[in-house]
Amino acid sequence: MRIIVTGGAGFIGSHLCEALAKEGHTIICLDNLGSGKIDNIKHLMKFSTFRFIKHNVIEPLQLIEGKIDQIYHLASRASPKDYQEYPVETALANSVGTDRLAKLALAKNSKLLFTSTSEAYGEPREHPQKESYWGNVNPVGIRSCYDESKRFGEALLMAYHREYNVDIKIVRIFNTYGPRMRKDDGRVIPNFIQQSLSNKPITIYGDGKQTRSFCYVEDLVEGLIKMMNSKEIGPKNLGNPNETTVIELAKLIRGLTKSKSGFLFRPLPLDDPTRRQPDISKARALLGWEPKVKLEDGLKKTIQWFKKNGAK
Ligand code: UDP
Repeated sequence: MRIIVTGGAGFIGSHLCEALAKEGHTIICLDNLGSGKIDNIKHLMKFSTFRFIKHNVIEPLQLIEGKIDQIYHLASRASPKDYQEYPVETALANSVGTDRLAKLALAKNSKLLFTSTSEAYGEPREHPQKESYWGNVNPVGIRSCYDESKRFGEALLMAYHREYNVDIKIVRIFNTYGPRMRKDDGRVIPNFIQQSLSNKPITIYGDGKQTRSFCYVEDLVEGLIKMMNSKEIGPKNLGNPNETTVIELAKLIRGLTKSKSGFLFRPLPLDDPTRRQPDISKARALLGWEPKVKLEDGLKKTIQWFKKNGAK
């Protein structure tokens, strides 16, 4: 197949491109290198079936000749630190960018998968979160450039589906981690690994009792591909239901790195959700997907990668 991956040079995007390349598909990777990096895809450049185009999905798409079977739309900053630094670009990548890709999907009769987010649930009043839950989002808060634009992206694609029968797929991705996360992206796992490896204080925001559920990137990519090749429209939650507090995570990473770091408690960022855990019954039943990698094993691999790539 000929497949477009937007955000293909990013953390999840590059793993997705790799998995699709191994399956023998032709890949057109679009990325503006805002948070993605050439380093993440340079090993794919040797495939004649892999093409990189530096492009921001907010801008009009240049003509892509020939058929396109599938489009994975991942392009967006996803770390709170990043998207709060570039709120307009983030809001537009998920709204204008999604519109441009929907038009392309319509013109080329391609399937289009949109990566929405667990942040669509905001500060959840239901726990764990099922797809049927509508969420509790602050529409003008500092996270709204991300969560509201992802929610709009979902709504826009449902509109394209209803009006023009575009073959769309929506997934809501929960916290994902693994090799190629940017060292400076500000998210909890890169921060804790680097702080631990350098024996610096581990920064715990709030009291550290807030929870997240972390999914290893290879598991997540398998879920994306299964969703794309299914008959489902979604939305479907993709994530690992194994819930952990931030403090437990800090202790685990400190132990795995044999670190001497202490804990430094910092104020909780505004609108930071107190808990988050996916209900993945739908993905299990309808996609035959569930994560396999245990947090400890995934963290070991991630720590190895950070060590090799000069985290210290
Ligand atoms: N967090 C923390 N210390 C850090 C970075 C993050 O305690 O150095 C917390 C953050 O407040 C949040 C959780 O870890 O409760 C996950 O944050 P992250 O930025 O990774 O992603 P989020 O799930 O909030 O989008």
